[in-house]
Amino acid sequence: MAKAKAPRRPLESCTIKHINKTINAGDCVLMRPADQSNPQYVARIERIDADARGGNVKVLARWYYRPEESIGGRRQFHGSKELFLSDHYDVQSADTIEGKCTVHSFKSYTKLDAVGNDDFFCRFEYNSSTGAFNPDRVAVYCKCEMPYNPDDLMVQCEDCSDWFHPACIEMTAEEAKRLDHFFCETCSSEGGYKTTPEVTKRYIKASILVKIPNSTRFLTVNHGVGLEQTRRLIYVPSKSVSLVSL
Ligand SMILES: [Zn+2]
Ligand SMILES: [Zn+2]
Repeated sequence: MAKAKAPRRPLESCTIKHINKTINAGDCVLMRPADQSNPQYVARIERIDADARGGNVKVLARWYYRPEESIGGRRQFHGSKELFLSDHYDVQSADTIEGKCTVHSFKSYTKLDAVGNDDFFCRFEYNSSTGAFNPDRVAVYCKCEMPYNPDDLMVQCEDCSDWFHPACIEMTAEEAKRLDHFFCETCSSEGGYKTTPEVTKRYIKASILVKIPNSTRFLTVNHGVGLEQTRRLIYVPSKSVSLVSL
């Protein structure tokens, strides 16, 4: 006979003593994987509950995947702090939480003055069973037709408004930063648009990427279908950590 399940009660938040932090439902947290050579897992806490006496606090974690954990793997346009919000959930003991972090929208991430260790961004949701992304396409730029990687500097052509990687236009990043004006190969070809005086007057200092550029070209990011989702093994501290529920 199965033992009757003791009723658990939901909590709005809990205090994780060993890191001295209060975690609320909706917060993003870091959890250490069982294989500690891997980077910390990132999760959004969907729910917190405890036993009738407020002990044995558990959280429902919705996992963020790093690009290398996805079926398609890490691609050139993935940022170093990029995560995918997955449909993969697990219940974990609250004492496996090692810290808080922030997962920004793509737009707000590109506006950060400085990116801290605990700052990440997410522009895709990820189906962990099929490997499909939502949205399933992403705008592309430059001669290389690549999506925007916020880790990389780009310069904007003042005529056609497309964005270019310095390396793709045979320039170093340092050279690109020193540009006063920039016209891509197509726009600076003889008889090109830029030679008309009306346009010349409107020339502005070449923009170095500070916002998400617009594009009308897209890359489809979904790969075929596939594999079963992989189980996440979480590091559990050997000494039980006492938890104070609020
Ligand atoms: Zn390029
Ligand atoms: Zn151009």
